[in-house]
Amino acid sequence: MADYEDTIFALASGSARAAIAVLRLSGARSGALLDALAGSRPPPRRASLRRLRDGAGETLDRALVLWLPGPGTYTGEDSAELHLHGGHAVIEAVAQALVAAGARPAEAGEFTRRAFLNGRMDLTAAEAVADLIEAEGAEQRRQALRQMEGALGALYEGWSQRLLRLLAQQEALIDFPDEDLPADIAAGLRAEMAALAAEIGAHLQDDRRGERTREGLRIAIIGPPNVGKSSLLNRLLARDVAIVSDLPGTTRDALEARLVLGGMVMTVIDTAGLRATGDRIEAEGVRRAQARAAEADIVLSVGDATDGSKRAGGIFGPGIVIPVANKIDLAPNPPSDGAIAVSARTGEGFEALCAALIEAGRRLTASSGPPPLTRARHRAALEAAAQALTRAMAEDSEELRAEELRASLRMIGRVTGRVGVEDVLGEIFARFCIGK
Ligand code: GDP
Repeated sequence: MADYEDTIFALASGSARAAIAVLRLSGARSGALLDALAGSRPPPRRASLRRLRDGAGETLDRALVLWLPGPGTYTGEDSAELHLHGGHAVIEAVAQALVAAGARPAEAGEFTRRAFLNGRMDLTAAEAVADLIEAEGAEQRRQALRQMEGALGALYEGWSQRLLRLLAQQEALIDFPDEDLPADIAAGLRAEMAALAAEIGAHLQDDRRGERTREGLRIAIIGPPNVGKSSLLNRLLARDVAIVSDLPGTTRDALEARLVLGGMVMTVIDTAGLRATGDRIEAEGVRRAQARAAEADIVLSVGDATDGSKRAGGIFGPGIVIPVANKIDLAPNPPSDGAIAVSARTGEGFEALCAALIEAGRRLTASSGPPPLTRARHRAALEAAAQALTRAMAEDSEELRAEELRASLRMIGRVTGRVGVEDVLGEIFARFCIGK
């Protein structure tokens, strides 16, 4: 376990050679380390050009340095930034000088972990920082940014506050059964529990919109051998990823590639040709193709426009199916069954195909209103919270109902990382005036 008394440093910019490399420091000794390396501390939050020296007095670099006293910093601690020249030898020498002066290299995620521990952000925001760094498409960026700025945290925190009020009222019913409690407290309690359960339920039944955006949509290309599935994938990606071959059945396993369309990240999966086969390896490929089709968000069901070969049907899961007729360059008459006519060879029809993919993607991810659920960890905890709330509503015993409400609150607390139900309860009760 890392020691949070330590002052840590890490390269905040990438490790590739670049003009500037930003080294970030955080911890109580940040200011003293700046004094040691840069001679003195510049005024807070003002970039200053300084000569950085090691303990022996040798100049290591001339760099912009920033002194960022806490608590208004990313981690909440005293921090500093060194904008070095981005060469490996410079970074290495400054890192060594920092270690010699008493800092240590940070562990993965340690800056954000400190930010969380110091109350600068809740867990959903900390997770969003990682999502933002990983974001490959505009929609992932938007969603992560919104979450990092606290939209999801605020939603869950709001539910926590409501549960806390419910719990306080429930406790009052237990503690003061004979007092003159307003008669409508019990009825109000039931109505509010039902309202909250409905809200959490609606959030959970969002058709995985936010999770789909975050994880990327899964597109499976399905169809009989030789209709041009691999060629279609290559054309979509505009680079050669899949092996294109004249021999039916050459794509034996599923191949995956990432693509950003309309700002949405899509993982396109080329699957083995769907057909009955005696070849054991190919049969395994077919089995996997069917499994991919079943779990895909969107299925491109490809047929050959020249022979009107039937597109595979019936094996798909709940995903949106887009029928595609390939090799239209060989069959001048467009298909009559509503399939999108394309030619993987000439590129004809790909605009319409991309438009159809974007349209389907939007239908699967677009959401209005409150921010959507974004990851399985949140879903699991919120499901448990909703179940506890449902049990609370069905419970006749006042004590057990309070217990379920507390369980529900704890589960939501897990999502935001703001736990300590008892502490908060103490605070609420201090101001609570029923029965006084
Ligand atoms: P898969 O088995 O469905 O993945 O099919 P491939 O992508 O391996 O293609 C099978 C054959 O059809 C190859 O010889 C391709 O060059 C050819 N092919 C694929 N798409 C087209 C197309 O749009 N037009 C023509 N004329 N040939 C194509």
